[in-house]
Amino acid sequence: MTPHPDPETAQEIAAHLNDSHADGVLNLARTFVSPKISQAQIQTVHADGLTLLAGNQSRFLPFLLRDADTREQVHYLIFYARVQQGALIDGGDFRYFTVLGSERVSPNMQRLTLKSQSPIPANEVGLAWYFTLHAVSPDKGRLKNLKHLFHRIVMRLLRHTNAHRRQKILNTFYQGKRYYTLRRVEKSSETQALEDIALVDVFLHGDTAGSQWARNIKIGDTVRSSAEYREQTAHLAAGQALLIGDETALPTVAALLENWQNPVPPIVISITQHPDDQAYLPDSLLPERTTLIRISAADDVAAAVTDNLKNIGQTVETAWGALEAGDANTVRRHLKQQFGLTGKQAKIKGYWRWEDGKA
Ligand SMILES: Cc1cc2nc3c(=O)[nH]c(=O)nc-3n(C[C@H](O)[C@H](O)[C@H](O)COP(=O)(O)OP(=O)(O)OC[C@H]3O[C@@H](n4cnc5c(N)ncnc54)[C@H](O)[C@@H]3O)c2cc1C
Repeated sequence: MTPHPDPETAQEIAAHLNDSHADGVLNLARTFVSPKISQAQIQTVHADGLTLLAGNQSRFLPFLLRDADTREQVHYLIFYARVQQGALIDGGDFRYFTVLGSERVSPNMQRLTLKSQSPIPANEVGLAWYFTLHAVSPDKGRLKNLKHLFHRIVMRLLRHTNAHRRQKILNTFYQGKRYYTLRRVEKSSETQALEDIALVDVFLHGDTAGSQWARNIKIGDTVRSSAEYREQTAHLAAGQALLIGDETALPTVAALLENWQNPVPPIVISITQHPDDQAYLPDSLLPERTTLIRISAADDVAAAVTDNLKNIGQTVETAWGALEAGDANTVRRHLKQQFGLTGKQAKIKGYWRWEDGKA
């Protein structure tokens, strides 16, 4: 066991996995310790492996790749364990939807109304689905088994390839897929026992794959998600909370506000590139006495957010937000510096990334 040369990064990786990928950490424990484990936590990330607390046992898991940085090593272990536990590299937890409607709810936000073939959890704020952007048909069980065998072989092969090739191979599993958040659930009829309609809002920006998918979708199309992701928002239940979102995170911010239970009204920072998209988050959605800051900017978003926070004149005790990855890092560090917020108190995510070359 060799100590990590950058303890802060090591701690961030462990906290991120424990907070946001609890299922992945449990898969590690079930794969490397015992299939019966029901609780697990990453204790420490080292230079050459990680220490896992699985039930009441502490176990060192060595990293398995050649010439990889810590993040890639940890991701590989998580993917490896996921496949060992019967899932596919890119999820394989399929949910199929029929498109019932598609409409513009602000100049650049496209709302898709999707009927799920299976019930949708009613009160899950921050649930996102990993949508496949090309035409799909339901998977036959036999095909799924073959795919799983193939993914097990790929995971083994990855150990013997160089970093560049490894990345190329993994990218093939993720290209053509994007996360979009459940904005709201509804029932397709009053007699329906469980919710089965999902509203999903997609930000249209240029000719990107996700934008084209949402623009071209037609009523009656079948769409599929292959994995689910759940944002952690329970920490916002008490104290002065701050919510920050650009167009990609405003669906979660809107859902949080619609279900706001904390007696302390939140501070909300709504960021849109086009001022007219501010209409997506109407004032009527805000709990009384909410402090609302509207920012319309495409560049220097992090600076606009931190400048506003410096002048806010209020303390902040918890935060949730998502925006461009580099901006998210800046805002996270700023919240630590200005308000002393730890990773548990401030969950600020990167939901997308500028192409190389752009600030
Ligand atoms: C958990 C989670 C939930 C999400 N929920 C939503 C949601 O509900 N609605 C939603 O619209 N998105 C959501 N996103 C973001 C979404 O998944 C896409 O990644 C993102 O919108 C970019 O996909 P794309 O195909 O449009 O562009 P990509 O092909 O991924 O990117 C191509 C280039 O376009 C530019 N670009 C990408 N995104 C943006 C942007 N937002 N603004 C300006 N330029 C951009 C960058 O230069 C990028 O390199 C979520 C992401 C995560 C991780």
